[in-house]
Amino acid sequence: LAVTAQTSKPSLNLGDVQYHLALWLVSAYLFAVLDFAKRIDDLLLGMTYPELAVNFFTLAPLLWSLSLTAALGCLGLERRGGSRLVTFAVSFCFLTVNLWSIKIGLAAKLATVSPPQRSLLALVAVGVTMLLCAAIAWKHPGRLAWVEAQKARLLKVLAGATLALCLAFPFRPSEPGQVYADTPSAVLVTFDGLSATHMSVYGYDRPTTPRLLELAQESWVFENVHSNFTYTPPCLASLEGVMPMQMGGQIMTDERGIWEILRGKGYPHRAFFSYFPPQVYFHSPLPDSRMTRSGKTTALYQAHSLLFAERDLVWLSGLLSEEFVYFWPFTGNYDDDIFWRRNQRPGELSLAAAADYLQKHPRGAFVWVHLWEPHFPYWPDPDLRQEFGPSSDTPGEFINRHYTASQQTWVDSLRNRYDQTVLSADRKLGRFLDDLKARGLYDTTLLVISADHGESLGGGFVGHSGPRVMESITRIPLLIRPPGNRVGKRVKVNACSIDVAPTILDLLGLAKAEHLPGESLSPYAEDLSKQSDRYKITRSVNAFLGLPGEIAVYWRTYKAVFLSVDRKFGKLYNLQTDPQGLSDISLTHPEILAAMRAALDATKPEQSP
Ligand SMILES: [Zn+2]
Repeated sequence: LAVTAQTSKPSLNLGDVQYHLALWLVSAYLFAVLDFAKRIDDLLLGMTYPELAVNFFTLAPLLWSLSLTAALGCLGLERRGGSRLVTFAVSFCFLTVNLWSIKIGLAAKLATVSPPQRSLLALVAVGVTMLLCAAIAWKHPGRLAWVEAQKARLLKVLAGATLALCLAFPFRPSEPGQVYADTPSAVLVTFDGLSATHMSVYGYDRPTTPRLLELAQESWVFENVHSNFTYTPPCLASLEGVMPMQMGGQIMTDERGIWEILRGKGYPHRAFFSYFPPQVYFHSPLPDSRMTRSGKTTALYQAHSLLFAERDLVWLSGLLSEEFVYFWPFTGNYDDDIFWRRNQRPGELSLAAAADYLQKHPRGAFVWVHLWEPHFPYWPDPDLRQEFGPSSDTPGEFINRHYTASQQTWVDSLRNRYDQTVLSADRKLGRFLDDLKARGLYDTTLLVISADHGESLGGGFVGHSGPRVMESITRIPLLIRPPGNRVGKRVKVNACSIDVAPTILDLLGLAKAEHLPGESLSPYAEDLSKQSDRYKITRSVNAFLGLPGEIAVYWRTYKAVFLSVDRKFGKLYNLQTDPQGLSDISLTHPEILAAMRAALDATKPEQSP
């Protein structure tokens, strides 16, 4: 078996060619079948199919390209004189290293888990060794004779190293290091684009939230909560308890939010998102580095992003990580009707999966479900499309825009459609609460219901993302039901998104989390006369991105609105007497406006509020 320096190239081994060709064909076949199945499914609107098939649709071409590369690599090495054993080992390691590096790249990049440095180093060592082996085999086939002589020993070492790497690598988040016998479970349900101003539980004149109104009878209903931003990524970061910054188009933070705190305490936790995977928003800070949340900075990630689309990488990280689960029907087209019709399913899947997870952790766990409803394109349950008046499907080009008076009829029909979607969202939540009751979890679980931001369907603007900080866009719901609570309370404290995470940690008794910029709201619910004196700040998307846009400062019952580019002039409203913020009182209360401007000037984005 010894490989000696060869004087001529060996002839091509037809058996090997057939073997690799067969491998290649099977992958291609799998890809074609699944692609075909998806196309058929696109035609049969509304029909469900196993989630696995959708996901595998993406995995198949990935494996297909990897196996093709490996097969070509094997063939090339064998033609250069390497033995089958060596070439097989090299190609196997190539595959393994490739998959692991995707995993590590994503872990570091998209922050699913924080990989121990030893795994990273071991991986780099294996990768470099394998590349060297491949290079030597390619250049000087004869020098690998010692490999042949020692092949049994080498195989054992290789198997041992592989096993050790598998064990060392954190495929799963750490299990509870201690028992939280007295800690209840908690569930945070956030809706995307749910404005408090469109919810009957907050006084809206249409019955859009009957189930939340029911829940309000035994919950703390916070009436003055505002999102710190007006679009999803920084909003979700703020709900995690941290105040993100924007740098070079990336959302960044180096604070440790609720996710890292729970991970550090070994408290079971899981996110179930119905649209964007949470890896895009959550992060694991690495020592001495500032991580981006959706970032594109590590070389590993960049190398892979040359080969695969980001959504494939994000999806793969979800497949490999146990910390986050999300249900994301795979399509690249945001305005694709098929996508949105199909997207009716994931909300229920996320909620059911969350209930399953809570049931499996009777000693306490935290789950966060983020539902895409009622976000644009406002896709209500079909049987609700006659509620509140005529409505029609929404053309995407009108969203997040100012509109003219001549378009008012269209906006009215859009408002009907949005309210129907709010009703659908309320129904989904109601079914989830029923499910918790049926499983016996309702009375032992801390329930927190909120939203990332609101939505405007009037006042000259439709949508949320843009320059505006209208009350319809910034005012979000917050209902908190401590386990077993039977008393409904209306809490008037001036609060915002970053207060949600400290409140949950406080109510679970897990941490005071003093480093977090927000404050626990539970003292304000215990004592309704207590008022917060803090200034709370909401930045519009434009202001967040450094473009001209509005910034709102909330203090007690007042709201001041400044332009990000020039804070000299501002408007002031008293939301107690003017809930929509329409009558400017800055001329009669210049001292309040000045104090709020000073508070804003004193606050860097990462330090606010
Ligand atoms: Zn959103």
